[in-house]
Amino acid sequence: MILGAPRGAKTDPLKAGPPGEDPVRCRTCSRALAARGARPPLPDGRERGTFTNPAGHRFELLAFHEAPGTIAITPPSTAYAWFHGYAWQVALCRGCETHVGWRFAALAEDRPHFVALITDAVEGS
Ligand SMILES: [Zn+2]
Repeated sequence: MILGAPRGAKTDPLKAGPPGEDPVRCRTCSRALAARGARPPLPDGRERGTFTNPAGHRFELLAFHEAPGTIAITPPSTAYAWFHGYAWQVALCRGCETHVGWRFAALAEDRPHFVALITDAVEGS
C-alpha cells in the first residue's frame, strides 16, 4: 500500500485562501488585491523583507503568487534589482492607481513570477 500526500483544501496555491477569508486589500481604496493564503517566500527565503530603492525610500514587502487586483505598468527592468535573476515592473492598484508593489518575473523559465506588495500600501498586513 502506498500512502499519498494528505488530501486537503490546498489544491491550488494560486487560488489559495480559505473560503470566506478576506483578501489583502488596497489601503487607499479597499479594492481586493490578492488572496491572503499560501504566500510564497521572497526569493531570499524570508517571509517579508525591507528594501531601499535608489531614491532612498524604504519598502517592507510581502510576496504573493498572484495579485489580480494590481496592474503592472512599466516594461520589465533589471536595473537596481533587489532579487537577482528577476526583472521587475511597477504594480499599481487597479482601483485607484496607487503604487502598491512590483511584479517580479523570473529570467529563468523554471522559476515562477511573483508579486511583492508594500505592507504600508495594503490593509492589515
Ligand atoms: Zn486602491
